[in-house]
Amino acid sequence: MAITKETVLQALSRVHAPDGPENIVTRGLVSEILVSANGDVIFALTADPARAAHMEPLRKAAEAAVKAIPGAGKVTVALTAERAGGHSHSHAPAAPKRTAGPRAIGVPGVKHIIAVASGKGGVGKSTVAVNLALGFVKLGLKVGILDADIYGPSMPKLLGINRRPELAAPNTKTLKPLERHGLKAMSMGFMVDEDTPMVWRGPMVMGALTQMLREVAWGDLDILVVDMPPGTGDVQLTISQQTPLAGAVVVSTPQDLALADARKGLAMFRKVEVPIFGIIENMSYFICGKCDERHEIFGHGGAKAEAKRLGVPFLGEIPLEAALRKHSDEGEPIVVSAPDSTSAKAFCAIAAQVWGEIEAGAGAPAAPRIIIED
Ligand code: ADP
Repeated sequence: MAITKETVLQALSRVHAPDGPENIVTRGLVSEILVSANGDVIFALTADPARAAHMEPLRKAAEAAVKAIPGAGKVTVALTAERAGGHSHSHAPAAPKRTAGPRAIGVPGVKHIIAVASGKGGVGKSTVAVNLALGFVKLGLKVGILDADIYGPSMPKLLGINRRPELAAPNTKTLKPLERHGLKAMSMGFMVDEDTPMVWRGPMVMGALTQMLREVAWGDLDILVVDMPPGTGDVQLTISQQTPLAGAVVVSTPQDLALADARKGLAMFRKVEVPIFGIIENMSYFICGKCDERHEIFGHGGAKAEAKRLGVPFLGEIPLEAALRKHSDEGEPIVVSAPDSTSAKAFCAIAAQVWGEIEAGAGAPAAPRIIIED
């Protein structure tokens, strides 16, 4: 018999909810359930953020209950926290109301998670993510980077890592992140060969990302930088919703087209109520390797003007520099390999600014924060 949503619900209704006689289904803790054609199951359990740590045994119990169903494939259970009010996908008849949808629960030991996103590929998002992360390291912070671009992972190349991660301890499924330049990193690219084509469907993407977020021994981190997949489709939306983000940075190039895409990026984060730290203009102007002069080849300043128009902070500009590309290709990001370069200084200044924002806003509700610059 094929596994179905109904059989999953039946199995879950045998798992007791905490503090009371009800089960987790009637208590309204179970989200929408996705069952793939080959029996993989993914769903979320809603938890009280204050009790996140106590929810892990419940998550495991729910996972085990579903795994025991004949025909069950890979089972992924995420923990999410509720916001006050809102609509619900819950299966319980009298579930509490919600307005903003589920919100992801924190990762133990990780203080803040930020996303680096872009409306389209090729704008230098991954380059910015890794250099920003190293800028945080330079501030003396404990930093991790999660490469969520599972379709085109770039961390192996950017960090010059070609090892496989090890298990954190025997008989666990938790992986140790790989470390480079004082940065802890995890990427699907560490697990599979670069030229292995991978076909991912929506629920599998979330399963892989949930594992990279929660089944990696990140240890104590001040900040985890998530390098988002490029674009603003459903996958990005789901990640933004299911990852407990303190905020997002949007990378754009000066061209109008990229800016139109950047606007989509901003709109996406606003939709899921993730605060936006601001826009970074990459490839802002060209620094000539020979004459060291600055050439504004793309109509520089577009992102700054656009940021102002949209009411989000402008975080800074990174020049188009041959050295930046060269160092990136060699797995030696410019912030560590040429710390006195214009780009490295710009990355460090942006890191300091974003960290300032995080500290100032720590603990504040994740509502869209609109800052009008002078
Ligand atoms: P994305 O993550 O947006 O797809 P990448 O970070 O992979 O983009 O960058 C795309 C290419 O552009 C890479 O080869 C990278 O080295 C190069 N690149 C990114 N930013 C710059 C820059 N400011 N100057 C020069 N080359 C850059």
